Amino acid sequence: EPVVIICIGMAGSGKTTLMQRLNSYLHSQNQPPYILNLDPAVSHMPYEANIDIRDTVDYKEVMKQYKLGPNGGILTALNLFTTKFDQVLGFVEKRAETVEPSAFPSHILIDTPGQIEIFTWSASGSIITEAIASSLPTVVAYIIDTPRTTAPATFMNNMLYACSILYKTRLPFILVFNKTDAQPHDFAIEWMQDFEAFQKALATHGRDQNGEPTYMNSLMSSMCLVLDEFYSHLRAVGVSAMTGAGMKEFFNAVEEARQEYMTDYKPELDKIA
Ligand code: GDP
Ligand code: MG
Repeated sequence: EPVVIICIGMAGSGKTTLMQRLNSYLHSQNQPPYILNLDPAVSHMPYEANIDIRDTVDYKEVMKQYKLGPNGGILTALNLFTTKFDQVLGFVEKRAETVEPSAFPSHILIDTPGQIEIFTWSASGSIITEAIASSLPTVVAYIIDTPRTTAPATFMNNMLYACSILYKTRLPFILVFNKTDAQPHDFAIEWMQDFEAFQKALATHGRDQNGEPTYMNSLMSSMCLVLDEFYSHLRAVGVSAMTGAGMKEFFNAVEEARQEYMTDYKPELDKIA
């Protein structure tokens, strides 16, 4: 049975570039993936998708027709696509039936719109995620722009966002520190494993002119405790979509997350069904 990897992350974190890298890595392993692109606004797509939202809706036309700005256009395009999503799942299932089990892709990769909120906080995003996760083992890869998250406050912000997505989807989760070619992710791992190291980083970064911790720092120190619980529920890997570093570790994490889907998520589904 294939595993579905939904790539989510802030604009510019490298989702699309990583999709291309995962695609070429899987090809090199003789396991070509099945690819869905859900970003109606992607201008340059460095890989070929099996199903592309742009074949169904033209978001620029949608903007014109409904007099919307870019984000409204993208969201509406996603909504229109979602109304046909049962057909999309039908394609995937039909394909699975017509080919030899061994020939069916082991991985289904999903790229999402650049602006993270459009997918994570829209009804369409939830509908698509739930429809997929109720039919196939599904994991979320949360992509992080590592060079841009070295400041403790930014790091915490990003982790809290990831945390909210984890609790919303309840799906197995992988934190993917991308762009390790530009910035190794060891600082992040240290902060996640060692509460005191993060507090120390916070303390040296934010003091007011009297040398006192700022309000923001006190707040963040308390939130660290919440995050400690969150960290215990996920796995983190470092990759470079640019150079291809970390692919083995990434797919090991995917396999682990798939197991977690089977032991934790699937039984809950079966209860409902
Ligand atoms: P998306 O908005 O999340 O889909 O991000 P993109 O894949 O379009 O990438 C945004 C920018 O980050 C582009 O300029 C990429 O070339 C760059 N980028 C992506 N992955 C890497 C990486 O691993 N290393 C470096 N140095 N740059 C990267
Ligand atoms: Mg993209």
